[in-house]
Amino acid sequence: MTSNILVTGASRGIGASIAHEVAFRGHRVAVHAGRDVAAAEAVRSGLPGSGHVVVVGDAGDPDACRQIVDDAVAGLGGVDVLVNNAGIFEAHPIDTTSFGDWQQAWRRTIDVNLLGPANLSWLVARHLLERPSGPSGGRLISVGSRGAYRGEPITPAYGASKAGLHAMTQSLAVALAPHGILAAAVAPGFVETDMGRSVLDGPGGDAVRAQSPFGRVATPGDVAESVAWLATEAPLWVSGTVIDVNGASYLR
Ligand code: NAP
Repeated sequence: MTSNILVTGASRGIGASIAHEVAFRGHRVAVHAGRDVAAAEAVRSGLPGSGHVVVVGDAGDPDACRQIVDDAVAGLGGVDVLVNNAGIFEAHPIDTTSFGDWQQAWRRTIDVNLLGPANLSWLVARHLLERPSGPSGGRLISVGSRGAYRGEPITPAYGASKAGLHAMTQSLAVALAPHGILAAAVAPGFVETDMGRSVLDGPGGDAVRAQSPFGRVATPGDVAESVAWLATEAPLWVSGTVIDVNGASYLR
């Protein structure tokens, strides 16, 4: 059965790869961009299949979240699956960041990485619960991070936001199971995208690549395949899981 899948942050990086993976499996995608509409349009036009749309909005703004979901529902004719992938990773080390900048970094990171997914999950869950065919088959998938477990010394708000995202996923898995809705997450290690580019291209790049016994960091496709599986094919019984996708770089 074809699903309609809203993938946030799909204008580049892991999200673009997720859009490709699920479209390749025959599903329709709402390719979401925070700002870069042209990039999202380029992703959309390169997807296999037809009926894909672009939606835009700041995940850190609750009104924009409503617009994102409304536009995806209108463009696709309903949404079955939400993939919370959009996120930010901004440095704010505690020993060199001013108190004002510290507060700003925490507020913005929690707004985008945790409250955004919370609001989008509420909106999509309500859409599923209220649709005439009923909620069964709906899925809420989130892209968390290894940093929730391993620590993020330069970006502590990021680590906290991802720990919150994992915990939210597990709470929603319990709350929504009686409605036949699956909720699950992945916790990737370092991935080769714009987000970590300065680290990977800098003097610490080799040390990061050496964290995995495979001797490299993930490609976006390494993560996207797991997300696409959770979003489309995974059995209901994996609901509540947080899958480590980190190339054995951190075992918990
Ligand atoms: P990326 O290349 O920096 O792309 C980020 C995406 O999120 C873009 O599509 C961007 O859209 C969107 N975005 C950023 N801020 C937004 C906002 N305020 N509202 C809406 N959309 C926004 O990142 P990535 O590496 O692909 O990361 C994707 C996810 O994987 C994130 O949740 C990240 O935390 C997680 N992750 C990444 C790594 C890694 O090493 N890269 C590791 C673990 C987990 P626009 O460009 O259109 O604004």
